[in-house]
Amino acid sequence: MLIGKIASMFGIYLHIPFCLRRCKYCDFITYAGKEELMPSYKSALIRELRHQARKIHGLPARADTVFFGGGTPSLMRAEWIREILDCARGEFRLASGAEISLEANPGTLAPGDFSSLLEAGVNRISIGVQSFDEGELALLGRIHGPDQAVEAVREARREGFRNISIDLMFSLPGQSLARWKENLYEALSLQPDHLSLYSLILEPGTRLFEEVRQGVLQPAEDELAAEMYELAQDELDKAGFTHYEISNWAREEAFEARHNKIYWKNQPYLGLGAGAHSYLSGIRTVNEKTAEEYIRKMQAANLGSEAFPAAVEKLSLDLYTIQQETMMLGMRLTKEGVSERAFHERFGVGIADVFPKEIERIIARKLAEWRDFSDGPHLVLTKGGALLGNQAFQEFV
Ligand code: SF4
Repeated sequence: MLIGKIASMFGIYLHIPFCLRRCKYCDFITYAGKEELMPSYKSALIRELRHQARKIHGLPARADTVFFGGGTPSLMRAEWIREILDCARGEFRLASGAEISLEANPGTLAPGDFSSLLEAGVNRISIGVQSFDEGELALLGRIHGPDQAVEAVREARREGFRNISIDLMFSLPGQSLARWKENLYEALSLQPDHLSLYSLILEPGTRLFEEVRQGVLQPAEDELAAEMYELAQDELDKAGFTHYEISNWAREEAFEARHNKIYWKNQPYLGLGAGAHSYLSGIRTVNEKTAEEYIRKMQAANLGSEAFPAAVEKLSLDLYTIQQETMMLGMRLTKEGVSERAFHERFGVGIADVFPKEIERIIARKLAEWRDFSDGPHLVLTKGGALLGNQAFQEFV
């Protein structure tokens, strides 16, 4: 179904749901104080890799990317990462030069750990710095201080990483524009290859959400958050970075996150681990969330079991939903947007044939525009549209 004629990329995502402590804003699938489960979790991941490689029909012939996300994947020993990657190489043909990313948190890696990860096969490291300010890090409930953040980035470079990404957060309660600018400058001074900048989202159920609800903390005003985003657009532009996705900037095209581009281009991926999502042949599956139950299900899986033995949800998407998602995700790509030609090759119709009114509206509101590329027109967000991206995406819901 519908994976079409365009050359599609395929990625493997491995979720590592362990953290030393839960940050105050975090609602991700992760567990603190359960590190003793990690060895059996690692074995469950390897079991799932093997199982899925044998049981899912029509898997793409080779994987272009592998991504260890979390949680805190840097809590896993490098030898376990190597074991998992060896299994991935054995079960799936990894493309030569495949991007292999791992999310690392400052305060979880000792000297020498980065080179062990490199030796294990990881070639891109994404460091969860979030802020260089002691008070902001405390407010977020991060386990690290500013010095550890700086040291983690320097150590990654010293030990040989050639593709380093830094995550920062903005629009924090009490954060001034000047303070945000200092965070940006501090990050740039470390010469990262890639930056991901996220506006704080107060998720119900988190400690930060409660503190704001009780009036202990004041949330950032929308206007200030917009100024912070625009400041980042300008400063990173001056520093030579390309803004290629709503929240992401790269020093060169080669450093754009290839794995995440698979999601944004609505291409297939296999998600392994607790709570992981997969998207293959128009079917989305979601795995069991708890680490214990995921491990139990994978231990019970045998060759007689169906594909997705740990799945708790399976949803077959209809054509229109896939087209909507292709637009919503693709429009996030601020540099290239959605190619008319790629859309046509995939679905056999043009973008404006499926969404005539929606496109008319977002263009009239100056949220998006058609731009010429070597393969023809692409529908791309305007600079102002990047700031109001959600308003454009909502047209395709
Ligand atoms: S390190 Fe990341 S995943 Fe872990 S608790 Fe903090 S925000 Fe959540």
